Amino acid sequence: MTETSARYVGAVDQGTTSTRFMIFDHDGEEVARHQLEHEQVMPKAGWVEHDPVEIWERTRSVIQKAMGKAGLDASDLCAVGITNQRETTVVWNRSTGRPYYNAIVWQDTRTDKIASKLERDGHGDLIRHRAGLPPATYFAGGKIQWILENVDGVREAAEQGEAIFGTTDSWLIWNLTGGTDGGVHVTDVTNASRTMLMDLETCEWDDELIGLFDIPRAMLPEIRSSSEPDGYGTTRKDGPFGGEVPLTGILGDQQAATVGQVCFEPGEAKNTYGTGNFMLLNTGTELIRSQHGLLTTVCYRFGKEEPVYALEGSIAVTGSAVQWLRDQLGIISGASQSESLARQVDDNGGVYFVPAFSGLFAPHWRSDARGAIVGLSRYNTNAHVARATLEAIAYQSCDVAAAMEQDSGVKLEVLKVDGGVTANELCMQIQADTLGVEVSRPVLAETTCLGAAYAAGLAVGFWSGTEELRKKWNEGRRWSPQWSDEQRAEGHAQWTKAVQRTLDWVD
Ligand code: ADP
Repeated sequence: MTETSARYVGAVDQGTTSTRFMIFDHDGEEVARHQLEHEQVMPKAGWVEHDPVEIWERTRSVIQKAMGKAGLDASDLCAVGITNQRETTVVWNRSTGRPYYNAIVWQDTRTDKIASKLERDGHGDLIRHRAGLPPATYFAGGKIQWILENVDGVREAAEQGEAIFGTTDSWLIWNLTGGTDGGVHVTDVTNASRTMLMDLETCEWDDELIGLFDIPRAMLPEIRSSSEPDGYGTTRKDGPFGGEVPLTGILGDQQAATVGQVCFEPGEAKNTYGTGNFMLLNTGTELIRSQHGLLTTVCYRFGKEEPVYALEGSIAVTGSAVQWLRDQLGIISGASQSESLARQVDDNGGVYFVPAFSGLFAPHWRSDARGAIVGLSRYNTNAHVARATLEAIAYQSCDVAAAMEQDSGVKLEVLKVDGGVTANELCMQIQADTLGVEVSRPVLAETTCLGAAYAAGLAVGFWSGTEELRKKWNEGRRWSPQWSDEQRAEGHAQWTKAVQRTLDWVD
């Protein structure tokens, strides 16, 4: 234990649609939480932005509200961890604290030309090998370059060390520790591994990669471990905690969920179903370079231990396809209704929906793909479209799981799942049916926040180590495959045909 009497750990989860703050006790049980959404700014087709100032305001509010609900003050917390939507890029002025531009979100495809030029100019293999990533709009490097090239005054300010970059972990830590009045400018290895700028082997910024994007090095935050005994800094007394709390954990959201699901052994995997889906397989200290369209990424680095790596299959659109049914098609009034509507039919009635709204990520990496609903006949109804949406979530994960098996040789025995969509029992049953593997959801679904709390708590000795954390994981619900092998093969063949129809859509 720490020398203080603090009995709790806090975690901020700065996500794509909302920001939440949760407080956990020593058993890993939730004590309180508060959550607020922020605006999705979509100025043009393919563009997605967030207002960083709004995100900071939401963060302050959720911290204050959750602390108030629990009746706690700063001295009750021994540490705070941060987890965040990865790749989303903020550039701000270190003297004024003002962002130069909205945050460019991971889903945003405006850097399409930057990504395809890198491939055309023959830099693809260098980026794949050194950073573990294919050149794609998804990652931060191209988004920084876009801001440098398109927003007045940023390049000059960056060259003078005034304009600085960070993902939202860096932005929040900078503000929590003081902002213009002495904020620290840091990130962790997991977030840095999503920029196309970090060498995966050394876990340092790489001059050759930075050169490809023409980014002044002074913009970049210091890369630290995901769990830091020395801390990144302490929260300011006049900040939302109203006192000094050590900030000791940072993990990108998917890596945090992997830690929250206690996937600490090589061969253990989890799949998170949120806005998009993200399957991560722990590969230990071994760096496996994918031959099948997956990413190689840092899973976590605790203190001075060696980094642990992961293979990742990222899918851009899963839960957000359900949002699309609600907001754009208007065939459901809330996400959970996707389940009751889909249950009105026994099967998809021949309908397949490939929600390639922002191209296709893993294992295809095709920014020129666009969505399609195929196989329609007059017989079909909204219910078939809802069912096809849930199937699309599952089939996309099947494709990623197959790539993972080919790259690693590890055959999945159980798929640990979490995230908002896992509330959908039908979708999880479809996942078990289409994958042919048991699907298991833990009691505590908030694995992302929990993972950030674990990283922060481990750093200060609140928890003794990963073995202790492993014992806290409990299964809440399990789904077993019910389809025959024949049914599974047939469904998958139809799905693959539908995916083919979406490729090459954009010139
Ligand atoms: P994120 O962290 O990416 O913001 P969450 O884990 O909070 O995502 O999950 C939100 C997503 O889950 C939304 O896209 C929403 O449409 C989807 N979702 C939530 N509940 C359900 C449900 N019962 N069925 C299907 N999708 C759901």
